[in-house]
Amino acid sequence: MILILKTGASTEQVDHVVERVEALGLQAHLSRGTYRTIVGIIGDEDKISEDSLRSIPGVAQVIPVLPPYKLASLEAHPQRSVIDISGVKVGGGHLGMIAGPCSVEEPERMDRIAKATRAAGANLFRGGAYKPRTSPYAFQGLGVEGLKILRDVGQKYGMPVVTEVTDPRNVEVVSEYADVLQVGARNMQNFVLLTEVGKSSRPVLLKRGMSATIQDLLMSAEYVLSQGNPNVILCERGIKSFDSCTRNLFDVAAVPVLAGLTHLPVIVDPSHATGRPDLIPPCALAGLAAGADGVHIEVHDQPEVAKSDGPQALLPDQYAELAQRMRSMAELLGKTISPPNPEAAA
Ligand code: PEP
Ligand code: MN
Repeated sequence: MILILKTGASTEQVDHVVERVEALGLQAHLSRGTYRTIVGIIGDEDKISEDSLRSIPGVAQVIPVLPPYKLASLEAHPQRSVIDISGVKVGGGHLGMIAGPCSVEEPERMDRIAKATRAAGANLFRGGAYKPRTSPYAFQGLGVEGLKILRDVGQKYGMPVVTEVTDPRNVEVVSEYADVLQVGARNMQNFVLLTEVGKSSRPVLLKRGMSATIQDLLMSAEYVLSQGNPNVILCERGIKSFDSCTRNLFDVAAVPVLAGLTHLPVIVDPSHATGRPDLIPPCALAGLAAGADGVHIEVHDQPEVAKSDGPQALLPDQYAELAQRMRSMAELLGKTISPPNPEAAA
C-alpha cells in the first residue's frame, strides 16, 4: 500500500500516519519530496483497511499495490486454471463449447437440440430451468421438472449440463442435477447466492452483470473462491449501452483484459451480448480470436415457439456451420476441445 500525503501536511500529521501504520504491526517507509511526502507500507495488507487510512488527516491518496481479488488474481496464481466439468475441460487451452436453448422445454425438443449440437461439436449442454425474467408474467421455467429433463438428455448424449440457479435456496437441488451452476447477469452481485454456490462442489459459470465493471466481476468471483470453491468460469455476455442496434454491447476487450488479471477461464456469450442471430457468428469468432476459453450459444429448433429468447436463437444448422468455423479457429490457435463422453448416444 502506498500513501500519498497532502501538499503541506504538517510534521504532526506525518508522525501520526507513521504511528497508525506501526500500531498495526506494519512498517512505514517515508520518502520526503519538496512538496509531498509518500509513505510506503510494508507488511500484510489484509491488516489494514483502505478507508481508515484514507480518513487519517493529511492523507491525500491511498494506492493499493495488490488487487483486492486475491484468490482470483493472476499474480497470486500464475498458472491458468483448468476447470474439469465431469471430463470436459475448460481453460488453459481447452475450449468449452456450450450450446442449448435458453429455457429447458419439453423432453423431445431437448433431445433433438442436444443431438444436433453434440453432432456439431458442442461438449456442454445448456438450458434454464429457473429463469430470471424481467416480467413476473413471463415464463419462469420448469423448475425441478426441467432439471430432470436436462440431466436425462445430458446423460443420454454424454454432455455435462449447465443451468442457472437464481435463488440460494435452490443451490442444493440444482447441484443435484447440474454439472455447472450458472449465476446469471442479474444475480452477479447477489452475494448470498455467490456465497452459497461457493460452498457447492459444482463448478460455477459466473456471468458479468450488465452494468458491472471488470473489477466488480472479479470481486464476485472472489466471493465464490473465498468459500472454498476454486472452479469458477467467467463469462462476458454484453453490457448496457446507449445503442439499441444490439441487445447489449459485446465487450470483446474484456476477454484479454481479464486474461491479464485472472487465472480463471473466460468465455463469451454472443447470444445475450448481441441478441441477433446474424451477429452471433462474427462475435463468437472474435471472442475466440481475443483468447476466450469457450463460447456459450443459444440454439433452438423452432425459435418462433421458444419459451424465451427465441429471436436470438441459432437454428441447429446455423450452429453446425458456426461450430465448424470455431473448430477451425481452435486449431489455428492451438486449442483443444474435449469431446463429450464417447460412450453415450451419438
Ligand atoms: C441465460 O443464459 O439464458 C441468461 C438469462 O443469461 P444472462 O444472465 O447473461 O442474461
Ligand atoms: Mn437466454
